[in-house]
Amino acid sequence: MADTLYDTDLIVIGGGPAGCAAVRMAASVGMRSILVEPDRLCRNLYRIPALNNVLGGYTSGPELADSIVAELESTELCCLELGRHVTELRADEARVTATLDTSARLTAPYAVVATGVGPLQPRDTAWITTPDGLTLPPLWQAEADDAESRTLLVLGGDRPIGTFLRAHPTTDTSLLVVYPAADEYKIGEIRDDPRVTLLPVEHLMLSLADGTSVSVEAVNKEGVRRTITADAAYLSIGNAPTAPSGDLIRGSDGYCPPADQHFRVIVAGDLRSARFQRIMTALGSGSEAALRAYYAAGELLAKG
Ligand SMILES: Cc1cc2nc3c(=O)[nH]c(=O)nc-3n(C[C@H](O)[C@H](O)[C@H](O)COP(=O)(O)OP(=O)(O)OC[C@H]3O[C@@H](n4cnc5c(N)ncnc54)[C@H](O)[C@@H]3O)c2cc1C
Repeated sequence: MADTLYDTDLIVIGGGPAGCAAVRMAASVGMRSILVEPDRLCRNLYRIPALNNVLGGYTSGPELADSIVAELESTELCCLELGRHVTELRADEARVTATLDTSARLTAPYAVVATGVGPLQPRDTAWITTPDGLTLPPLWQAEADDAESRTLLVLGGDRPIGTFLRAHPTTDTSLLVVYPAADEYKIGEIRDDPRVTLLPVEHLMLSLADGTSVSVEAVNKEGVRRTITADAAYLSIGNAPTAPSGDLIRGSDGYCPPADQHFRVIVAGDLRSARFQRIMTALGSGSEAALRAYYAAGELLAKG
């Protein structure tokens, strides 16, 4: 399928599960690919201590990541551009052009964009007020020792709470989870854990983080105020999509719906929408994205 008009058959932007699955599938149907990733491959998987929803017997993120990385490094048709990121993606009738942070440009008939999401901070939300410049660590950075016999205030009801509880099944900790109504659908998996206290709120004012304790003023939907104190505060308020500038079409929530994109741009993984953000769905959508490019290229050749 190689064509001298292009640098490669498929540019894959992002080396998480979706991007890795895309290049693996591309190679299996004879397509060359270039995968661009600023960090190491599967960097997010290395942060997941326990898995219970991935086929293949993998019980931790690093175990799965090591296996994917080894497979990619031995995939001959795939060229890895690690330590680089794509700053702009353009698409026209003839090609896609990805510009790297080095200003180098790559061209191909198709691009798979699988750049995922990055963590939000309190200042990015309307329901939390914090002093200027305050940032808090995400819950997944808390180690067992940070949690043992302590009360942790968790801002937001996003899924890493479930991962944290599974990763530390014996930790004697208490999680006070304050969350807005919009997170209600996410908290089902932690509702029955005896270590969790769920506190739905309308608004939260974080006033003090003095290193030894944290205090917040919470307002519930009836307008009732209460003060909550804890030993430390962590975030679980979710993520925002991260995508290169250029011709990607973003929805009002910042995500990039696959159906709205230029026909040469195929979006995969977490970047598609706030829901369905899972490893298996990322792997599946990355594989499908590569096949979409393969069949589309075949149809164009047949017409031409
Ligand atoms: C703490 C935590 C726990 C989780 N636990 C689970 C779990 O138990 N089970 C589960 O199924 N899922 C879990 N997830 C979700 C899962 O990790 C994601 O759904 C999955 O990693 C999404 O894969 P992806 O390839 O779409 O994106 P990502 O894994 O986010 O990969 C995107 C990649 O794109 C790269 N990138 C970003 N911008 C650019 C750019 N401009 N140019 C080039 N590359 C770029 C990034 O460096 C990143 O490596 C968890 C996530 C977290 C954070």
